[in-house]
Amino acid sequence: MISSPTPSSTPTSSRLPSPTFLPTLTATSTPILTPPQTPTSRPDPTQTSLPPSLPPLPTLTPDPTHLPTFQPSNLPALQPSNPPPFKPSTKAVVLIIIDGARWTETFGDPTRDLIPHLANDLAPLGAINTAFYNDGQTLTVPGHAAIVTGTWQDLPNNGQARPTAPTIFEYYRAATASSADDAVFAHGSFIEPVLTYSAHPAYGAQFGAAEFFSDYPTPPYDDGMAANARRALAELKPHLLMISLLDPDEAGHIRDWAGYRQAIKHDDEIIWQVWQQLQADPFYAGQTTLMVTNDHGRGCGEGWPEHGGDDECNRHVMFLAVGPDIPPGLVISQRRTLRDIAPTIGYLLDFETPFVEGEVMAELLTQESPR
Ligand SMILES: [Zn+2]
Repeated sequence: MISSPTPSSTPTSSRLPSPTFLPTLTATSTPILTPPQTPTSRPDPTQTSLPPSLPPLPTLTPDPTHLPTFQPSNLPALQPSNPPPFKPSTKAVVLIIIDGARWTETFGDPTRDLIPHLANDLAPLGAINTAFYNDGQTLTVPGHAAIVTGTWQDLPNNGQARPTAPTIFEYYRAATASSADDAVFAHGSFIEPVLTYSAHPAYGAQFGAAEFFSDYPTPPYDDGMAANARRALAELKPHLLMISLLDPDEAGHIRDWAGYRQAIKHDDEIIWQVWQQLQADPFYAGQTTLMVTNDHGRGCGEGWPEHGGDDECNRHVMFLAVGPDIPPGLVISQRRTLRDIAPTIGYLLDFETPFVEGEVMAELLTQESPR
């Protein structure tokens, strides 16, 4: 682990920088909850522009006062309603959320032209679910909150309110007494810091994720998230990493159809690079489960630039999972929702998720190692 991130040179190219020349890696346990007053570069009012720079952030070394004070006896002894009957081999989970990519531009497109790596390289190694939905609010914060808490969260989309149910980061750190370095959230949105930990009284900041905020000033913003995530994987070796990519949603809100499509394809490449890094690292190779999903889709037809509705196009999202406990080439049509991700991650990493509403996706998992 690194005790103090060292700022490195700022990339001048919009391409994904080399891992040896990463942009500023900034981590904080004190998320910035105040959006900028004057949006400049980002048209989405819910994901407004990034500031030119962020204040220096504290080191990644856990504060001794933030060691767990978790009292398991205070919590209900709820178990997943359908635990699979075997002990998973997964030791780490990487969860990637592509903000606002519709099903019809991902696995719902018969050509799958925009997701060549997801469709042709990763799906054959694992599973996809063709009936995966956001049944809550189809907005960024509520969608992400459903993913990290396993509950529908009726939250404002302005990043001013935390989830009321514990997040996977808190469950994981409370169960393992691990430092924040072990549960990392890489993103670049001013409304997403509320996802690092919940307002739940039994959990909270002391169990929150280390936050790696990308301040890339120009698109593709997702290159910043990818660079921070890849550096975190290399240097911190977290067992739980969530990456939120937002370029498709940004392009959608400015009605840039070509840009929206290109952003999905670029994210496909980013995900493939993350997967390749995992496979090249003995800490992760063969014992890491990758999951990819969306927080929400977008409106149907002419409504594609926006989202928030309750139609099929807003609700239907992708779900892909690859890892040592998942048989290759599996295509699941059992209807599942964003709420089922958190309990499934809890099962894979062997921590309880007592407040979730979803279920472990047992149909994803196999007792026999397929590879
Ligand atoms: Zn949006």
